[in-house]
Amino acid sequence: MKLVFASNNAHKLSEVRAMMPAGVEVLSLHEIGFEAEIEETGKTLEENSLIKAKTVWNWIVESRKSKVESIDGVFADDTGLEIDALNGEPGVYTARWAGSPAANRAKALRELEGKDNRDCQFRTVITLLMNGDAPLNGGMIQVEGIVRGRIAEKEFGEGGFGYDPVFIPEGYDKTFGELPAELKNHISHRARAIQELIRVLNDGMME
Ligand code: IMP
Repeated sequence: MKLVFASNNAHKLSEVRAMMPAGVEVLSLHEIGFEAEIEETGKTLEENSLIKAKTVWNWIVESRKSKVESIDGVFADDTGLEIDALNGEPGVYTARWAGSPAANRAKALRELEGKDNRDCQFRTVITLLMNGDAPLNGGMIQVEGIVRGRIAEKEFGEGGFGYDPVFIPEGYDKTFGELPAELKNHISHRARAIQELIRVLNDGMME
């Protein structure tokens, strides 16, 4: 099975490729020649991941008609940090909350200054659009993955990316910035969403 992952993020691509079962080939946007920026105009993670998957699928159908048959589907992910004490913010605005990753982390720490409730979660939504002839037959699949945790009192560690140095996953006392990448890749929001996607794909292929 050949699936396009609507991303060029090398970190995400290697994560996803490592998790996919043998027999599922994952192509990046570079590899299919898609170079445009996709505007994320949705109001939810669900909308944004669908926008990304649809944009790429439409592009494949329009510009590479002869290759459509060889691609079984396109999937895209969208992630938000949802902080309980801020009513789920920054949510869909997670990447753009304060500008840069460093400014975003500083804002999370500032917003929670003096607050007891530092609970939050990372939530990833993946949308998969399947080609009409593929096993899941032209359908759309949406899955989510969640990791609960809390915002640290300050930054710890330099591993990972984005909010990792201020996010402590439930059951641990270290941030994703300090914990080994292998552990993060096992319990993260994205890992859980991908595990769910694989489960749905396996079920679909057995029918
Ligand atoms: P995206 O939708 O996957 O691009 O994620 C949106 C934003 O969420 C990113 O810009 C990061 O700031 C943040 N983010 C997503 N995944 C992670 C993660 O695994 N660790 C830390 N921050 C993340």
